[in-house]
Amino acid sequence: MIILNNQDFKVRNDAKTDIEDRGYTFGDGVYEVIRVYNGKFFMLDEHLQRLQFSLNEIAISYDVESEKLQERLEQLLEQNNVVDGAIYLQITRGIAARNHPYPKKSTPELYAYPIPVSRPLEAQQNGIGMTLVQDMRWLRCDIKSLNLLWNVMAKQKAHEQGYKEALFYRDENHVTEGSSSNFFGVKDGKVITHPANNYILNGITRIAILRLCEQLQIPVEERELTLAELEELDEAFIASTTSEVTPVVNIDEHKFNDGTIGEVTKRLQDGFEKLIQL
Ligand SMILES: *Cc1c(COP(=O)(O)O)cnc(C)c1O
Repeated sequence: MIILNNQDFKVRNDAKTDIEDRGYTFGDGVYEVIRVYNGKFFMLDEHLQRLQFSLNEIAISYDVESEKLQERLEQLLEQNNVVDGAIYLQITRGIAARNHPYPKKSTPELYAYPIPVSRPLEAQQNGIGMTLVQDMRWLRCDIKSLNLLWNVMAKQKAHEQGYKEALFYRDENHVTEGSSSNFFGVKDGKVITHPANNYILNGITRIAILRLCEQLQIPVEERELTLAELEELDEAFIASTTSEVTPVVNIDEHKFNDGTIGEVTKRLQDGFEKLIQL
């Protein structure tokens, strides 16, 4: 079953929209990827809050609560028997003749359907490599917008060079985040990550990790990391809905911790593992 606006479709190809959906023409919409473990949503409230934030920031009038989106998503899980996977959901400004200003009358278009996701166990055991890519995105990275062009290009660059993820840096100086993940460094037992402002997308996994750090009494500094500091880190890892906590063992040629997984990263991986036993 897939959700399209107010309807549920059994067969995915029956769910159709218009080529003039502003999602296609302008990327005028927002999205979420929500993880499901043991048949239950992981941090659904936080995802729905962030979705409402993204909608508000681009002035799409859709009220997550009054549309009872949560209930519909719970149904979607049940109907599709999703046990271990994820739901992709997007809301666009709707269908209108192609013209830049917001249409006077358009109804937001929503769709949501299950996507297969499996835990990246190999990457979590062995760590991944990242490559630095200049952050050429716009300055509202805090909105989970459908416009992912530079994210896509950066990820492609990384893959072409044999790295799993790109690490963005801005102004020839500080690192921001990964192309689809948040970045964390560890120095002298402290976790350092970019503050949740307009330069990064505040990941739900990032939020989970900051809570974990508090529980485990691991000190956190939310501040910019410079490129010079990057080389001096003891450990590094990325976090996202699909990568969970994945250690980073090298950035370009530079290796951390002799290419092995650091102690703080390991503690957070173990802590996260407990969180997802829903
Ligand atoms: C979605 C996303 C993340 C990770 O967010 P999660 O909610 O943890 O999945 C990080 N950075 C970018 C650019 C993203 O789009």
